[in-house]
Amino acid sequence: MQIIRDIATLHRAVAALKQGGKSVALIPTMGALHDGHLSLVRMGRRVADHAVVSIFVNPTQFGPNEDFAAYPRDEARDAALLAQEGTSLLWAPDVGTMYPGGHSTHIEVAELGADYCGAARPGHFDGVATVVAKLFNQVRPDIAIFGEKDWQQLAIIRRMARDLDFGIDILGAPIARDTDGLALSSRNAYLSPEQRAAAAAFPDALKMAAKAITSGADVAETLAGAEASIIEGGFDSIDYVALADAASLERLDIFRSPARLLAAARIGNTRLIDNLPVG
Ligand code: AMP
Repeated sequence: MQIIRDIATLHRAVAALKQGGKSVALIPTMGALHDGHLSLVRMGRRVADHAVVSIFVNPTQFGPNEDFAAYPRDEARDAALLAQEGTSLLWAPDVGTMYPGGHSTHIEVAELGADYCGAARPGHFDGVATVVAKLFNQVRPDIAIFGEKDWQQLAIIRRMARDLDFGIDILGAPIARDTDGLALSSRNAYLSPEQRAAAAAFPDALKMAAKAITSGADVAETLAGAEASIIEGGFDSIDYVALADAASLERLDIFRSPARLLAAARIGNTRLIDNLPVG
């Protein structure tokens, strides 16, 4: 597996991978890889000839009081895992390569980025969309793969690829979960053993709520009940628990398919997100 840090070398290496009409799938990540990320790499190898993974902890998608400095970084470990999965190329630019002095152009995500995680993290999705657009232009993949774990992000990237005519197929990959149901996340590493044990209350409550709404229970009452169970389970606060149209992300007071239950909650200083299909 090649590890590349500058754009000119990247262009040459991707051109070599594409020789003979071979296809490339890009899997963007921020590193601290777990089996969720690796499931995206495996999907990339199934749907394309080459899997290219990027690792870049993008400063512009973190707020001033968020965990950019503390975000876990271990490139050597990540690179070994990616090589084992048959990744062809690791694109690992530094901040100066991604944002050279004077960088001033960005993508603004309108209404899709306003609610849910966008409400709690102003500017977050503009930062995500801009860095993903740059990664798309740098790598020029045929396919790009994102996890359903970040449902709002996936919806925003799909819309951006369509709106700006990137000509890249955007694929969503199912959420990889731990044995107790907690969605795998690099941020789970922040949890104390007690918090980690309590954290399963989050997916449990969402699962119950999704089932209840599917069976016709009142949406507002069910969402309030889910919030109460998450707090009873040991979480400190809820950012949102919402029923949304799966594509437009419009909030739904009355269930209609296809819908998604979207949620974010905080335990100690850690903010966790999750989502489930409804119906
Ligand atoms: P991150 O490194 O957190 O930016 O995530 C990189 C990619 O991996 C994103 O497309 C995420 O949605 C995806 N991802 C993270 N965790 C999971 C998971 N548990 N299951 C599936 N995909 C995931």
